[in-house]
Amino acid sequence: MTAPPALPEPAHAELDSMLSRKFGKEVANYFSGSPLNRVSFLRTDHAFLSQALKHPSTSFLLFNNLNPLVKSPTQLGYSLYKDVQSLIGEDPFTKSEEDLIKEYNSSTYIPQLIFLGLDDRNKEGLVYKDHYKGAPYFALDVTPKESVTTAAESLIASLESKGLEFSKGRMHLSLPPEEAAIYAAARHVLDWNSRNPFCAACGHRTFSVNGGFKRTCPPADLASSLDTSSVPRPPCATRTGVSNLSFPRTDPTVIMAVVSHDGSKILLGRGKRFPPLWYSTLAGFLEPAESVEEAVRREVWEESGVHVGRVVVHSTQPWPYPANLMIGAIGQAIPGGEEIHLGHDAELADAKWYTADEVREALRIGTSGIGEGPGPEYKEGGLRLPPGTAIAHQLLSAVVGGFLGGEAKI
Ligand SMILES: [Zn+2]
Repeated sequence: MTAPPALPEPAHAELDSMLSRKFGKEVANYFSGSPLNRVSFLRTDHAFLSQALKHPSTSFLLFNNLNPLVKSPTQLGYSLYKDVQSLIGEDPFTKSEEDLIKEYNSSTYIPQLIFLGLDDRNKEGLVYKDHYKGAPYFALDVTPKESVTTAAESLIASLESKGLEFSKGRMHLSLPPEEAAIYAAARHVLDWNSRNPFCAACGHRTFSVNGGFKRTCPPADLASSLDTSSVPRPPCATRTGVSNLSFPRTDPTVIMAVVSHDGSKILLGRGKRFPPLWYSTLAGFLEPAESVEEAVRREVWEESGVHVGRVVVHSTQPWPYPANLMIGAIGQAIPGGEEIHLGHDAELADAKWYTADEVREALRIGTSGIGEGPGPEYKEGGLRLPPGTAIAHQLLSAVVGGFLGGEAKI
């Protein structure tokens, strides 16, 4: 069994602060902690993107049907500008965004390219306008389709002949934390682009702009033109004012460790698809016009019948499957509110209160991904819990580590 990957180092972890003394050290969950500076304000600057694309320090993370290119389960495989030129052309950023929208032709297939940011740890990286420094990172969709089918197939064959592969399977939880964070951002934004080829407001094809972080609905299209002038499209709500229709979505999910009113027990649930003995914290989607605290109380009551009072947020975790942010909370049951009732919704196969000692022991010897074996010390019949890459694990560790008593060390 390989050792589980480490978690990212929280920012400014060693700095003494009032907040850390009161609430404990910040927990940075797996998939957070990207080493890249996103310089999001430069995404519309094509002079910058053009230089970033061709700089010798630039890395491209390739995806085929959302499967990332890897060297091994613990290492992403990056490509260079010369490798991907056959797909993206010499430079897709020679013209401004405004001009590209004017010349928009919905029948032209352009492989999705995402600008992810600058790694300023690399001292050989790009320097732009004196301030913005680092090695640029892009993600690129090399799925063979439409006009790039042949070029993509040949690129994929050449990468595979070098021992690289597009890692299949949905989860990639064995990467080192910084690689995992780069992969998560790339996957999240590529997935969103691939799900939104058409405008949600008017149904016409959309066009990727802002380094892959926005899709716009162009006002005219050359594809249906009989000459060289674009054919205007009908008015669309996304073209007026600040619109939220065409930016990548992030869906908030609440996930919570719930303790009994006296703090001695922890509520765990078993999903219907979980193996026997495999439990986790409860979780669910935040609903429109609902606070995090309300969503925690509602989800816990709906799934387990338990009534939760005070709720505090502990830490959060990006989860790019496809677009979640897990908001990790700790909640305390109200006096007399601990009775379990599974009859409200059909989500869980079981829910139970466990003592802190039982949870502590299971965190030590009984954790793994679903479908994987536990550690060597695990005794048959013991409680099983999620691995350290899951925020559920960190929430439970916090509870048994003293978070509730104000003497949190994790
Ligand atoms: Zn539209």
